Amino acid sequence: MSVSLVGAAIIFFIIVFFLHQKMIVPLGSFIELLRRITRLLAGMRGQQVAEDEDMLQLDIMANTRTDEIGVAADAVRMLITRLRELSLFRQTIEADERTEDIYARLAQIFEHKLGLERFVIFEQLEQDAASMAPVYCNPPELAPELPEFAVGEHCRAKRTGLIITSLETSSICKEYPFADLMDHICIPMIVGGHVIGIVQFLFPLYMSKNMQHVKNMAVEEARYYIAEALPVLQTRHLMKKLGDMATKDPLTGLYNRRYLDSIIEQIIAGVVRRKSTIGVLMCDIDHFKRVNDLFGHETGDFVLIQLARICQTCARDADLVIRYGGEEFLILLPDCDEACAAVFAERIRITVEAHKVHTPNRTLQQTISIGVAEFSHATNKTIWEIIKLADIALYQAKNNGRNQILVCQDNTVSTES
Ligand code: GH3
Ligand code: MG
Ligand code: MG
Repeated sequence: MSVSLVGAAIIFFIIVFFLHQKMIVPLGSFIELLRRITRLLAGMRGQQVAEDEDMLQLDIMANTRTDEIGVAADAVRMLITRLRELSLFRQTIEADERTEDIYARLAQIFEHKLGLERFVIFEQLEQDAASMAPVYCNPPELAPELPEFAVGEHCRAKRTGLIITSLETSSICKEYPFADLMDHICIPMIVGGHVIGIVQFLFPLYMSKNMQHVKNMAVEEARYYIAEALPVLQTRHLMKKLGDMATKDPLTGLYNRRYLDSIIEQIIAGVVRRKSTIGVLMCDIDHFKRVNDLFGHETGDFVLIQLARICQTCARDADLVIRYGGEEFLILLPDCDEACAAVFAERIRITVEAHKVHTPNRTLQQTISIGVAEFSHATNKTIWEIIKLADIALYQAKNNGRNQILVCQDNTVSTES
């Protein structure tokens, strides 16, 4: 009787000891683990808690324990580290002003952190829903290939909104032009159900299965960074669009007069500081009313867009091309004197004269007249008075028969060509 009682007591203590070691102690550690995870996550959301102390404890747990708690602590430590990196990335790009800077940061992560060396980021074109244009490529030597590389409307990733990989199915996308040179994985950038761009990773053909696995994992990780960047990119796009709406003419995409008003002081200040000049061109399409009258307003719009594009293409980055009136463009050429402005004006005149405007129904050729004046840092006239002089020169060019430039010299107007 007493033997069985002692036996039962021993078994009872063994069970209690077992339960204590295997359940109560781990449960305590597990609760401690959860507490630290919660504090770390709260810390990532900006709350004031002792994050580093918690991370240190997690490290100790992961490094000293060999049981399930140690394994869990290690997994959580890795997860938290990753979440922290993503959170830091997001905070960093939120402070970036330009989308180019955000793409450059993404590129940095792809290349240096994830070992994805070749990639192209395409963005949806606003003016052409069917096309996407490359906005970032790595390595930069890829750039010359890119005109052929632009993504069109049949892009599979764009059409389906799915990740498209030629590593699993070769020649999966008919739009991809380099199927016999490189493999690709295309990730659509989706915001609000719309594909706003594609990130295309490129790989050498015939990678080993092992290497394919490594690259797939890296692309998987890249997706998290892309997902973090998307809302920020979208906000920057919307901000740019808002800015453009206020400062750009919606038909031609040229700057409007409001923009001129906002920027002119800054331009003048630079020119005065450099003791320089501004070439001022007032351009007006000849007999434009006829285009509208004969072929309709839509054709007129088409012509306007094309001639605006010529003005913009002839200009340098520092020049300012403004839609000044209906079919009038004002062009300001900083650090360009009257002679240089006259050469520039003649180039525009010749280009317009030679340009064939292909509308859906007919081909048209237009001419343009241009009045030229110079604003000098030493003048006692305002820029608006100089613009007026360019305007007077323009109307004299019209009176002289159109399709010509006329340079205003020393506040008088004389015929140039
Ligand atoms: P000139 O050689 O003397 O400059 O003759 P013009 O016919 O070009 O000049 P006019 O001032 O008589 O006519 C300008 C025309 O430009 C009238 C107007 O309907 C047209 N116009 C202005 N803005 C737009 C626009 O946004 N789209 C179109 N299609 N036409 C426009
Ligand atoms: Mg006109
Ligand atoms: Mg006019």
